[in-house]
Amino acid sequence: MIFRTRFAPSPTGPLHLGHAYSALLAHDHARRTPGGQFLLRIDDIDQSRARKEWEQQIYQDLAWLGITWDAPPRRESDHLAEYQAALQCLADRGLIYPCSCSRRDIREAASAPQERTPRQGPDGLIYPGICRGRAMSDMRESDAIRLDMRKAIDSLSALPSFREIGDLHKGTHALTTNTLCCGIGDAVLARPQMGASYHLSVVVDDAAQRITHAIRGADLFAATALHRLLAALLDVASPVYLHHDLIRDAAGKRLAKRDDARAIRLYRSEGATPEDIRRMVGLPPA
Ligand code: GLU
Repeated sequence: MIFRTRFAPSPTGPLHLGHAYSALLAHDHARRTPGGQFLLRIDDIDQSRARKEWEQQIYQDLAWLGITWDAPPRRESDHLAEYQAALQCLADRGLIYPCSCSRRDIREAASAPQERTPRQGPDGLIYPGICRGRAMSDMRESDAIRLDMRKAIDSLSALPSFREIGDLHKGTHALTTNTLCCGIGDAVLARPQMGASYHLSVVVDDAAQRITHAIRGADLFAATALHRLLAALLDVASPVYLHHDLIRDAAGKRLAKRDDARAIRLYRSEGATPEDIRRMVGLPPA
């Protein structure tokens, strides 16, 4: 079986030790698997935050770490029509709706006395459904687009499962109505001025790049049920997952994704070698 994995950084800041760990781990897996491939994806769907300079820095840092990729990088901003087509496919089946709620509207509705205790989903509070039922024809430019989770579940003859090979959650995870409705809810699939949300683009991209194994941080495990569901709704392939622990500092604290003090380029400028970085993140020598 072909093994094809990827690293998908967002060019919104420098790569730090956590990114280096994720990229090196995926790269090691690909290089140690006969015929394995490693692909790069530039997660620049959020054009308001993505910068060309950061993208160039990513290429340089990865090359310095000894990482090579087996195809030209896929830049999400070059594929907006594909995300649009995916949204259209869901719209045609009545599974999405426009939403004009602010974070504050959601907070207030979720904490109204008649509501149960507000629950957290992968992107904050579970959406309490204020705009659910609005027609896509009623969409305004400033609206986001949400998945109608109930309808989405009902549209499938059976809920799928996904396979996890990472030590943290190893096994087969069957999606359930309870996890999807109470743990995820009506997720945002597109934001105003931003073709698609991460959750939609990652599913379209993994299928387009024919990724067999998605290796990424454990912070994304909770969203994996949503990614698997979207793949089923769009009838595209979905990968096996390996969610790795997030690296921690000496005191055991998880390293923040955006801790510029741990930027790879700073270590480089201070004379560290790629082997030093591997050691720092706990990986064996290349
Ligand atoms: N750009 C995303 C991140 O850095 C990629 C997540 C993924 O690998 O699916 O969190």
